[in-house]
Amino acid sequence: MKSIRTTADLAINGAPPAYAEPLHVGRPNIGDRGTFLRLAGEMFDRHWLSNNGPLVREFESRIAARLGVKHCVAMCNGTIALEIAIRALGLTGEVIIPSYTFIATAHALHWQGITPVFADIDPATHNLDPEAVRRMITPRTSGIIGVHLWGRAAPVDALQVVADEHGIQLMFDAAHAFGCSLQGRSIGGFGRAEVLSFHATKCFNTFEGGAVVTDDDALAEAMRLMRNFGFVDFDKVIHPGTNGKMVEVCAAMGLANLESFDETIATNRRNYLAYRAAFAGLPGLAVVSYDESEQNNYHYVVLEVGDECPVGRDAIVAALHAENILARKYFWPGCHQMKPYRDLFPHAGMMLPETQRVAGRVVVLPSGTTLPGDAINVIAAVITRLCGIA
Ligand SMILES: *Cc1c(COP(=O)(O)O)cnc(C)c1O
Repeated sequence: MKSIRTTADLAINGAPPAYAEPLHVGRPNIGDRGTFLRLAGEMFDRHWLSNNGPLVREFESRIAARLGVKHCVAMCNGTIALEIAIRALGLTGEVIIPSYTFIATAHALHWQGITPVFADIDPATHNLDPEAVRRMITPRTSGIIGVHLWGRAAPVDALQVVADEHGIQLMFDAAHAFGCSLQGRSIGGFGRAEVLSFHATKCFNTFEGGAVVTDDDALAEAMRLMRNFGFVDFDKVIHPGTNGKMVEVCAAMGLANLESFDETIATNRRNYLAYRAAFAGLPGLAVVSYDESEQNNYHYVVLEVGDECPVGRDAIVAALHAENILARKYFWPGCHQMKPYRDLFPHAGMMLPETQRVAGRVVVLPSGTTLPGDAINVIAAVITRLCGIA
């Protein structure tokens, strides 16, 4: 095992960190290079680099088949995919989202001139609390965007009930949830549409990329138009649009990564179980659990630091960073505390007590296919020593 400094050592000597190269959260998983290079070579031979090429079309049909949905509309990234889905659904006015999410969920609305309204989460699941959503509905509310945080499904049925009661739309930000299920059904088919991100740091990547998946033919058709400037033919534009297209080389990466995706999940699961074993029985430290009766991608190893822990979350993050282990506070301090939204809604925190509590407790630990073999033991040793447990 690596030598690990105590907090006393930290103050006294400049011992080298446990890792010379930093360990990152979300270090990209890279699939079979041979497959990628072969597909890229064929792409160069075709001289077809973008504009709905054969690799993008194959990628879309493979994703749709894997998720059991009718349509996959691939995009240049998850944020543009969110914006296009939001527009295609005709959302306006106010849309309810969690504050405990990546900032893009809020920005995609704001950028479209829609007001994101933050509802509180259930501290047990970190997902939207349907009762809190109900409290935030006004006559201007046109929809709800649930987020399947950490890949654990949002309360889909309860949110649908709320949406139906008020005649508003429900869609999902499924950026974390590729390869996950709810009651045995793949995430991707819930609500009017679900949005995936294939960013480099996500479980499954296309360098940058995203998609909207849906069973709705008309919606898929509208989104295909919007992602390509509204073109239906060489000289014919029938709809306002933007440039949301996925390029061929990204689809090649996606096809290569799809081949190894099940292996990636198996590695993530091993890491997750090893982390759980390492922290089992330690006071105030809990690794957020995945329901083993569902499919999970186990991409996020989320440690919650409770009140019974002798040190706080920030001290744990600092001790890990001193060892070049770049654990992250996610999604701290919450979207509502980030400047654009804090300026818009200075008192939003009053409605978000659970969001604020959870955002202050969570640290995401490095995992993924490139995690060094000894890292989980080293990380557990740093934390238990800091806590005075070992
Ligand atoms: C990553 C992420 C996005 C944005 O996806 P990009 O592909 O990076 O644009 C949106 N929502 C959530 C919850 C995310 O984690």
